[in-house]
Amino acid sequence: MDEVIAKIDDQEMLSRIEKVVPFHGYLSTGAFIGLQMLQIASRELDIKENERIFVTCETLNCLPDPFQILRGCTVGNKGLKILDYDKMAVTINKGAEPGQQIKGIRIYLDATKTIKYPVFHAWYMNERKVPHEEAISELIKAGADVYTWEFVDVPVPIKAKKDVRLCAVCGESFISKDGSDTCKGCSH
Ligand SMILES: [Zn+2]
Repeated sequence: MDEVIAKIDDQEMLSRIEKVVPFHGYLSTGAFIGLQMLQIASRELDIKENERIFVTCETLNCLPDPFQILRGCTVGNKGLKILDYDKMAVTINKGAEPGQQIKGIRIYLDATKTIKYPVFHAWYMNERKVPHEEAISELIKAGADVYTWEFVDVPVPIKAKKDVRLCAVCGESFISKDGSDTCKGCSH
């Protein structure tokens, strides 16, 4: 992997990789895709280094990690939302007042474009086992060329008052979202 990384001449990207590796455990192809998506979004939305961003990842696999370690977007601080669609796609936006619309960008890894990079395409479509080194090597060559993006309007949710109740079954407190008297743990 060191030989692959040595081909990168972008200092900013290199320092990002240095932070992602210990956090994620290694440089996976999915984490590298997240890094490239972050780079595209930062350019297209003019995101400054310390600006708070909100990210929706459409997969649990690898992709969320660069946003957590580099941008502090976590599930707990609501900076990171996961849609478990198993798609290599993210939507990124800056913050805005609740109730407003904010311009965001949805970026996905486009199979009609990865086809120009056969080794990487084979990894993406899982046609055969492709080592991360080889997949990332092609991604470095491809850069933004394998992604498609569009600008989207993202609604900023209004914070509703929390309806805290005691569960009719277990007696523990929970936030009722639909007027239910039973917590989700007891409703199954
Ligand atoms: Zn309960």
